[in-house]
Amino acid sequence: MISARYRDIGVRMENFQAALPEYVKQAGWSVKKTIPGQNSFMFELKKGFFDKATIKVRGVPQDVYVEVDGSQELMDIAEQALANSCDNPAALVGWKEQAKQQAMELAKGFAGIMQPSMPQAQVPPLQTPAPKPAAPKLEACMHCAAPLTYDPEEVLVICGYCGYINNTTGEQPPRYSMLPVVVNGSQAMEIAKDHAAKGILVTRGMAERADWGSIILRYVPNWAVTVQIEGDVEGKRALIKTKDARSQVAQEVAMQALGGALGGIFGGAGRGAGRAMRDRGERMSVSEAMDVSVVARKAAEFQPDAGAYKIPLDKKEPFRKTGEETLNVEIRAQEALERARSLALQELRSRYTFVSRFSVGAYPVGDSELIYSPWWFIEYRMGGRSFSVIVDACSGSVIAGQRPWLPKGVAKGR
Ligand SMILES: [Zn+2]
Repeated sequence: MISARYRDIGVRMENFQAALPEYVKQAGWSVKKTIPGQNSFMFELKKGFFDKATIKVRGVPQDVYVEVDGSQELMDIAEQALANSCDNPAALVGWKEQAKQQAMELAKGFAGIMQPSMPQAQVPPLQTPAPKPAAPKLEACMHCAAPLTYDPEEVLVICGYCGYINNTTGEQPPRYSMLPVVVNGSQAMEIAKDHAAKGILVTRGMAERADWGSIILRYVPNWAVTVQIEGDVEGKRALIKTKDARSQVAQEVAMQALGGALGGIFGGAGRGAGRAMRDRGERMSVSEAMDVSVVARKAAEFQPDAGAYKIPLDKKEPFRKTGEETLNVEIRAQEALERARSLALQELRSRYTFVSRFSVGAYPVGDSELIYSPWWFIEYRMGGRSFSVIVDACSGSVIAGQRPWLPKGVAKGR
């Protein structure tokens, strides 16, 4: 909660009341509820699926108290609306300045600086909210009442009887769907061998002769999140030209995102080398919607190689119970949004070899969707060591290659 008190600026309360919703709407918030009033009013706000906030205002023109239960950004917006709804904006002391002054006064040992009739302006709290008390764990399926068993880490649990996805807090489950198995086990094995053969000093023959061990299918939950990235980047962009179709697509996407200003550079330098890199330092504005997937499991063995996994969203279908083992969700939607933001920024950053300024915001848009994706986990031994490859059973792409076998969570059959 952030609050501030504004004195002697001549607030036109009715103007402020009318202006505030317009300002917050411009910042992407919608007004869910309004409680109007002459000397006090309140707005309940919502943004996307998860963000909620409240703005409360009370007072008289020469002494107004504003309280924001939400982000600092929202307090800035409220203050902007206030500055444009008063007679003497020059006299406005901003909430950050107020907080600073108050901290200094407290430090000096002054007390009682606030009139008792008004709530005390507060130093903005740290951004980490207090952890909520643990909700009682769900013991029976909310759909069919069959008993549920699951690990304490798991937060969305599939009923073994009816296939319903239970939120262990008892709340409604999120939107969810699944992907079909298109690539069968022997096809996945061929894809894995091709992938292994691309390794340094490995030939297809060696890959063929390696000791190919177990292959298992697991449905792995992924959060699909769309992240809007907006801002400016100043630096040197890496252009990597490879024969790999996926890299080319990534490069085209990057070019589109970055304004296509470099169109002429491709095909020039490094042709024939198969791989060419050119640097260019410049300032570019970035505005792009990025689809990001976040694996809803905590263990490292399920995390795809950087940039390797794109959910084939065009193939998704309604979730149904299959005979295959399906992993439960350990990462909640809210946490996935945070990870998706940082993954999107990492992806953007990786398009540059050098960055002198990186002023980019990442904002999740819309609700995230849970997608159960079938992945083949394939083991092989080569040169006395065990490795594993993960192949997407829907798209046939390699999600991760050459990592030590055996993934713990897979080995124990979960
Ligand atoms: Zn059930």
